[in-house]
Amino acid sequence: MNETLFAIYFPIWLVLAIGTFLFFRGRDPTFKKRWHRPVYGLNVAVIGGMLVAMTIPNWTAFAIFTVAFMYFMWVGIFQTRVCLGCGRICQPTNLITPEKFCSKCGTALA
Ligand SMILES: [Zn+2]
Repeated sequence: MNETLFAIYFPIWLVLAIGTFLFFRGRDPTFKKRWHRPVYGLNVAVIGGMLVAMTIPNWTAFAIFTVAFMYFMWVGIFQTRVCLGCGRICQPTNLITPEKFCSKCGTALA
């Protein structure tokens, strides 16, 4: 466990969480669809990258966290859809395949 990384992890996590919330707050669905992937990718890269780095030199934990990191990156970027009807961010409920319809308003997701 890297103590320095651990100490700066929570402030960075908090800034990203609040920043992402404010960035998407009150925005229209087209804006959310345009920016969801890069913002999500940045969040996962920073948070996931720090979590993976904190596991060094425990290589078993490193391998597990790296696989989890890649999974969350894949799900968030390629399997998550943004509803153009209501702006809801629809993650796959079965954790693998993207949703076909918005669970909030029923609009078909592309
Ligand atoms: Zn919707």
